This record gives sequence, structure tokens and C-alpha cells, in this order.
Amino acid sequence: MEARVSNECVERYSRQLIMPEIGMPGQAKLQSSKALIIGAGGLGCPCAQYLVAAGIGTLGILDYDVVEKSNLHRQVLHTELGVSAGIFKAESAAQNLRQLNSSCNIIPICSQLTRDNAPDVFQDYDLIIDATDNVASRYLISDVCVLTDKPLVSGSALRWEGQLTIYCYTSKDGVTGPCYRCLYPVPPPPESVTNCSDGGVIGVVPGIIGCMQALESLKILTGNEPSYSQKLYIFGGLRGVSRTVKLRPRQSSCVSCGQNPTVSLSNLPDYVEFCGMDAGDKCQILSILDKDERISVDEYQECTARSKKHILVDVRNPVELDICALPNCLNIPINRLRAASARTQIEPSQVFEKFKEITILKDAIDKNLKNAGLDTPCNVFVVCRMGNDSQIAVRIFKNLFDKENVLFQDIRGGLMAWADRIDKNMAKY
Ligand code: ZN
Repeated sequence: MEARVSNECVERYSRQLIMPEIGMPGQAKLQSSKALIIGAGGLGCPCAQYLVAAGIGTLGILDYDVVEKSNLHRQVLHTELGVSAGIFKAESAAQNLRQLNSSCNIIPICSQLTRDNAPDVFQDYDLIIDATDNVASRYLISDVCVLTDKPLVSGSALRWEGQLTIYCYTSKDGVTGPCYRCLYPVPPPPESVTNCSDGGVIGVVPGIIGCMQALESLKILTGNEPSYSQKLYIFGGLRGVSRTVKLRPRQSSCVSCGQNPTVSLSNLPDYVEFCGMDAGDKCQILSILDKDERISVDEYQECTARSKKHILVDVRNPVELDICALPNCLNIPINRLRAASARTQIEPSQVFEKFKEITILKDAIDKNLKNAGLDTPCNVFVVCRMGNDSQIAVRIFKNLFDKENVLFQDIRGGLMAWADRIDKNMAKY
């Protein structure tokens, strides 16, 4: 390839140009290359910054969401001005990136990626960067990358941990790495999936992974080999421990990239149905319980206003109770409850002994039943932040307390619904 880098560009990119792995040919390749970042969030922002700073030719940024205050701690391309203007993240990112490097062609795409638009959008790019935060999008992006033959640089971050890998990459010796489906042929159950909005995240962690996505992309686009095809890099931010694990190779049985694929561009599956989850990065709203196993925040308020005897269990983590909580709740974190539930499979007799908070609930229920008379049922209401974990908790409680006169119900929409409808002074998070 004929290297053509202008003198002005030589000055700008001199520090990276003098590295033998890049040089004039690598820079020329980069300046004529096109990458698409899906998600202008915690991963997408730093990734975009470094790609644009390095002089990528064209960068597409796809995101359907608008900038919100709770984004700013990690999505470092957006600003307070963007929050007050309520602008699209893709637009906000594009505006700020153009100030960083006016010679790059930045294309904001303010829409959601769907099976209808993905093949057309991907067609214009050499490389795809998955910076999303949900399972349905991961399957969609991987399938379309397989079918349009694009390498996929995939990152994720949650709490203190980040992960990075590269899918669908064909190395110089002709070996193609696995796709997302090769590793995860079946989606996880919706109730086991946590996103940043539910689980929290330290802003620096997606920052680090986003930077690594940029680094791997730069290597591919300048004609170098990436480091994480068929390998998973795991960054542990809390303990400062990182490791790389080898992933299994491409699977001949894979329905997407295998020998007899059933997924095709004209026949892309319904990913939301396949995963049982929305393709948005917002909190998923689960619907596990029946109607009569749930009450609304208004019904709960009525119950407290009438001083109706009941027990309230809050299944959030203790740190969240410091932010906001309803009075007189018993705290049994969902993780403890899951652990207790797992223990019942092994040694059911020891559950109450090992999990003190569950014994406290048992005692409260017994006391309640004794005081109210045995034919009056005991109401136990379960609350969490959004009304997802509370539903899972009701299911577990029903198994643990197999009593007919104890009625477990969750409060629909959780504390955030309470903050919206009942107590406007409650902190929202
Ligand atoms: Zn595959």
C-alpha cells in the first residue's frame, strides 16, 4: 500500500509514527480506515477519544440514548451542558470529538441497533466495537459481524471488573477466532444478568477497558495482530489482579459461524425474544411473579397508613440502605438470600442456623402469627430498588417458608416507584 501521510499529519502523529509497528504505512492505513462504536457510554467514550486522537479516518458512533446526570462519572465525553440540553449521547460525543481532531470524519447515529438496520450500518465499516451493556445486543452484533465478515472488539465492565476479547478475527495465518455464540450458545437467564445500573460500576474500570478496546482496534487497523483473539482479558480493579484466559476456539456446531449456520442476514432471529431481555442498556423490568403476588406502592402506602400489621423486607445491599430506605424494614440482601437458597439444596436443616437474618425473619413471622391469631395470614412485603430482585426474593422466600398462612408479595417498581409516586424527597439513584 502506498503510504500517503501529509506533512501536517506527520507533525501531529509523530510520536506514534516513529514506532516501527506503525510507521507511515500504518498511519496511512489508520487514516483510511473506518470503525463503528456501538454505545457512547463508559466504554465507548474513552475508546472514541483515543481512536480519534490517533487519527482514525472515519468513526461511527451509534447510541439511541440521551445524556443523563448519572452518566457523567464514567462517560467522560459528555458534559453537564449535555445533560441540561438533553442531547443524544452520539451527538454529544461527536461534538466533543470534532474539537479534538477536526480531520476525522465523525458520524453520530442516534438510533437503536436492530436486526433491521444492523447489516446496512455495519457494511460501511472495517471494524466493529461493542461497547454496549446488554446480552441481546451482544448476540445481534456478533451475528452481524460474522455475516458481514468484520472483526469485533468487545468490552464489558461491571462493579470493579472489566473484560475484553476479540471475536470473529481472522489472523494473518488464516485462523478465524470464535464468535460470541461459539462461547455462549445459550443466553443466560434474565434474572441472572446484572448491568451497571443495577450493580454499579467504578468509572475508571470501563475507562480502562475502553482504552484497551481502542488499543486492540488500533493494532488491527494498522495491520498489526491483536492480542486478545480467542483470549479473554479480565481486569480486577479492586484487588489489582488481572489475568488472561484462553477461550475455546470457533465451534463447528455454532449456528452463526459454524459449518451449517442457521442464522443469515435475511433471517436474523428476534434477539429480545431469544434472550428474554430488552436490547436497551437501561434496567430490565422482570416479570416473574403472578399478579396476586405483587402490590403497588399506593397499596403499600395504604397498608402503612392503616397501620396494618406486616413485615417489610428490603433485599438491597446495606450500602444502598444508606442512600434511602423505608422505615422498619428488615434487611436481607438478595445475595445472602441466593446463598441460603443454594444451601437448602445441600443441607436444608442448617439454613436458619447459618443465615441469621433469615432466622430473624422467621421469628418475626412466628411472632406476627401468634399475636394475630392463627387464621389471620401474615403479610410479608419485599422491596428493592426497581422491583426486580424483590420478585426473585419472593420466589426464594416461598420455597424457604413453606407456610400457607404467610403471604409473600413484592412491591412493584420498588423504592424508585415509591420516590416517584409517594415520597418526592426520597433520594433516587
Ligand atoms: Zn460462532
